[in-house]
Amino acid sequence: MNCIFCQIANKEQPADFVYEGDNVIAFKDIKPSAPVHILVVPKKHIDSVKNLEEGDRDLVSEVIFTAKKIAKEQKFDEGYKLVFNVGRKGGQIIDHVHLHLLGGF
Ligand code: 5GP
Ligand code: ZN
Repeated sequence: MNCIFCQIANKEQPADFVYEGDNVIAFKDIKPSAPVHILVVPKKHIDSVKNLEEGDRDLVSEVIFTAKKIAKEQKFDEGYKLVFNVGRKGGQIIDHVHLHLLGGF
């Protein structure tokens, strides 16, 4: 599939990984917009939050808990932002669900 985040998940494209689990990966954003900018991404290809299904509830929860864990491990959990951009008008460019973890302010 011609999806950059699927390719990163499949190790077909490089990325600076900070976490890999069975269902979720996290890697540094190539163009950071915060001192720490990590993308937390389900391995499963889902194009948008808009198209999440009931069966994706646990996976989305795991994405958020992974972000929380990374913030704690990297010691910036005093304060951070979690952002899902949804749709072009919402600023979404990559059509594979991802959570922006922004911190280190
Ligand atoms: P969006 O605007 O879709 O919510 O966010 C996509 C994010 O992915 C952007 O912050 C962009 O910098 C990042 N990004 C795009 N392509 C790549 C890539 O190939 N590698 C990494 N690590 N980040 C990427
Ligand atoms: Zn994908």
